[in-house]
Amino acid sequence: MRLYLFFITFFIALHLSAQKEYPQDVFGSPLDIPLVLAGTFGELRSNHFHSGMDIKTQQREGLPVYAIADGTVTRIVVSHWGYGKALYVAHPNGYTSVYAHLKKFGPEIEEYVKKVQYEKQSYEVEMFPDYGELKVTNGSIIAYSGNTGGSAGPHLHFEIRSSVSGKPTNPLLYGYEVRDATDPTLLGLYGYPISDGALINKSAEKIQLNYTRQSDGSFLADKVTASGTIGFGINTFDRLDMAANQNGVYAVKQTVNGRVYSEFDFETFSFAETRYINTLVDYAHYYDHRQRIQKCFKEPYNHLSIYKSLYNDGKINVEEGMSYNVELLISDLAGNTTKLVIPIEGKKEEEKITKEDKTTENYLIAEKPNNFDLGAAKVYFPASTFYEDFFINLEKGNDTITIHDNSVAAHRNFTISFDPSKYAMEDRNQMFIAHLDSRLRPSYSKTYKRDGAFTTRTRTLGTYTLVRDSVAPQVRPKNFKEKQWLSNYNYLSLTITDDLSGIDSYSATLNGKWILMEYEPKTNTITYNFDDKIVNETECELKVTVTDNVGNSTTYTGTFFRK
Ligand SMILES: [Zn+2]
Repeated sequence: MRLYLFFITFFIALHLSAQKEYPQDVFGSPLDIPLVLAGTFGELRSNHFHSGMDIKTQQREGLPVYAIADGTVTRIVVSHWGYGKALYVAHPNGYTSVYAHLKKFGPEIEEYVKKVQYEKQSYEVEMFPDYGELKVTNGSIIAYSGNTGGSAGPHLHFEIRSSVSGKPTNPLLYGYEVRDATDPTLLGLYGYPISDGALINKSAEKIQLNYTRQSDGSFLADKVTASGTIGFGINTFDRLDMAANQNGVYAVKQTVNGRVYSEFDFETFSFAETRYINTLVDYAHYYDHRQRIQKCFKEPYNHLSIYKSLYNDGKINVEEGMSYNVELLISDLAGNTTKLVIPIEGKKEEEKITKEDKTTENYLIAEKPNNFDLGAAKVYFPASTFYEDFFINLEKGNDTITIHDNSVAAHRNFTISFDPSKYAMEDRNQMFIAHLDSRLRPSYSKTYKRDGAFTTRTRTLGTYTLVRDSVAPQVRPKNFKEKQWLSNYNYLSLTITDDLSGIDSYSATLNGKWILMEYEPKTNTITYNFDDKIVNETECELKVTVTDNVGNSTTYTGTFFRK
């Protein structure tokens, strides 16, 4: 009974505190379908926390997107990458709603955007309309859902930010009804020996720990023996109703013998701190296993503001002869909680698994700037490129160099400079710096050519080399043929590809007049919409020029007819 009352009180307290800070039920839904999520706020993504909720759009594009309240459009972005087509609407109550990966905008906004695109002769644009210039009313259609930018399938990415701080907040704190009756799922538990000489189950290395499900639904870990300072990490996700997606959990709380040692949640965070996700997750483990373990202890170089409570940074000092009861509570925003209990016995034991020896020739001090000459290229790491000191593995070469591997996270950009002087000038013009993946496939790294050096700035460690791209891009009609009548066509599309360095720019004209081509890199397609009504001649000459990242270009010319 007491436990029951405690949980009621706890739930009401949680609910009240949310109510106090966030307006409840004043924002309408951005879609007129039930809200089923493919992604939650704070979900662990590569190098960032997810800053909104991803609403599934029934595998379709083009669903009407509604303004969640009266407001004014403050920002519009059209980009090949990231948010794709995105709309920002400021509301009088101090919040800004954000809608991303859109297919297109509502009629008034679409017209506004097209005008700027034709003025600037660019598909990619960013606009900041004056306050009140583009007003929207609650429930009006402001856009249509899509799959533009860095989106892997049709959905609406939806955010609610503070208009003042720009910080994104968890949209589920505003009273949206998203059904979730399932406890977070636990995929794995790991123990981390932290201090010198610390051991967990005789291991000086991180070790996976076993647990079993109890009759009350909680989990109990096998008894752990340990000594020194240790910490724990978990691999977990939350499944909501109506979808199989593995979403992020809301909060993780760790208590030791009843005392809260660490507690973090995804109520809000700032974009400035989001990359510090690489200090919350076990980054090396992700590199090896593609699984994100969240640490329940805070590394000294972790500057995240998501912690509600910390004692000893969530680390446990285990003393010989003492026993500890660690409880991990993993919860979602609907109040479902998964509990895991880890009993620890403080015991000095003989080390069976020793720490992996990672010694190399070069020990990098993270807070200092570091220069390395690797033969074919020089590498410069500004101070604080990395979070912590480590033995860096560097491989020199005449053409190819290797800068450690991606088991270590770089927080800031570093510089790689290749000396191209041994190559003939005409070759040099077609060369670029390429990052080679584990199967040695090259990808373009933005290459600056000046003062006789090729330079790139990157946060990706690994193997780099110079690659020559001598083949110009290909341009092929996709939905029409040369000399065809296209009177009934709504749009014109072409396929553009480049085999090596990738596409840098594209432009098109109809009878000499610039036309807007919408580029979708995921499908290698550029599309012109006949609604733009640029020409009214019957015979149309289409010219499309595509240039790759080293300057090779192709111009396609074709004729079609239209009445
Ligand atoms: Zn998203």
